[in-house]
Amino acid sequence: MTPPPRPTERSEALFARAQAVTPGGVNSPVRAFNAVGGTPRFIRSGRGAWLTDVDGNEYVDLVCSWGALLLGHAHPEVQEAIAAAVARGTSYGTPTEPEVELAEEIVGRTPIERVRFVSSGTEATMSAIRLARGFTGRDVVVKFAGCYHGHVDSLLAAAGSGVATFAIPGTPGVPASSTELTIVLPYNDRAAVDEVFAAHGDRIACVITEAAPGNMGVVPPLPGFNAHLAETCAAHGALFISDEVMTGFRAGKLGQWGLDGAVEGWRPDLMTFGKVMGGGLPAAAFGGRADVMGHLAPEGPVYQAGTLSGNPVATTAGLATLRLATDEVYERISLVAETLGTAAGKALADAGVPHVVQATGTMFSVFFTGETVTDFAAASTQDTAAYAAFFHAMLDRGVHLPPSAYEAWFVSSAHDDAAVEAVLEALPYAAHAAA
Ligand code: PLP
Repeated sequence: MTPPPRPTERSEALFARAQAVTPGGVNSPVRAFNAVGGTPRFIRSGRGAWLTDVDGNEYVDLVCSWGALLLGHAHPEVQEAIAAAVARGTSYGTPTEPEVELAEEIVGRTPIERVRFVSSGTEATMSAIRLARGFTGRDVVVKFAGCYHGHVDSLLAAAGSGVATFAIPGTPGVPASSTELTIVLPYNDRAAVDEVFAAHGDRIACVITEAAPGNMGVVPPLPGFNAHLAETCAAHGALFISDEVMTGFRAGKLGQWGLDGAVEGWRPDLMTFGKVMGGGLPAAAFGGRADVMGHLAPEGPVYQAGTLSGNPVATTAGLATLRLATDEVYERISLVAETLGTAAGKALADAGVPHVVQATGTMFSVFFTGETVTDFAAASTQDTAAYAAFFHAMLDRGVHLPPSAYEAWFVSSAHDDAAVEAVLEALPYAAHAAA
């Protein structure tokens, strides 16, 4: 049954105003509905698992601020900690206690020894690359197609014409000179990694990868793939950078590393974090081996800085979030992710829509293609028109999914039985709309 249309006048009016003063009407491209069509919903407030838009519509949120909100919207204890921090002042430009406490918390929960705070995941990966180049005295960076590391010039690169060739800019505005030291390889492809190290091993400063890609949908690393990257880097004197901006404190309590390196017995030289560690405010970090981090200014020669880095309000929000992120929180998120992933798969199967549900720890996504996705080429076989129909049918029934088929679906510990039930009710209708 088709539900009565939801009012969207206020979102539409705001979107028109936004488009006049902001390119595309949004401050980050994927917030626009370009991939699925229509008007993005302007959100007035969030509570727990639910969003309320400016027209008064309510939605179960399966975006959770692109993974940042592990505990859901407006968690009372996080809000209280933020309010207390704001009451003391918002920024001092000098060291503060919450920075030290959050650094200790992150060092205690990950294989890194020292950490430096920044304000976005982009800054974290950009700084990690600079440090890797400064530490090794080499210039070449290896990345994987379909992995997103923020809008860093050298990482906005598309593959060149052969495996062991250098990349071309992935967007206008990035000069060829910024990507000519970047090599883009197919994800999960050990032979391609070996080939590139055989050809350029003594020039490679680092390999950077999403610990488990979530930016082409969720593509778990094949068993041993990350270990192979770590070993290959070590054998050639390059650094292995594991980007956990999305998976950190999200795929599990110890991030993807807890599911992978901790089990297989290896550790990255550098890691990057963002999203969950900022508790919904702008905070991110990079960290790693003590000797590598010791190369950063003011201790070492590699320059890196930030006016709002380690901001006391953001680090307080992150600290409150991580301290509340107990085993029970991850158990709840895991149960909700499993329930929704299984139900989405069943609804699509019943409707005859080709699909694959993939997960790593508590992070999952639904691909609108029939084949198992191990790399970006397979992710690109998705039926994006079917996803658009599915997305809008879910939205009409009060479920807010990411407006692109190439994204992970995120849940929080605030996704209670009522929120789960609302999604379960919507799924069969949306699956039929996609058929
Ligand atoms: N790295 C990964 C794995 C990400 O998912 C993202 C953002 O989605 C980034 C880096 C960039 O983070 P930010 O958007 O905070 O700059």
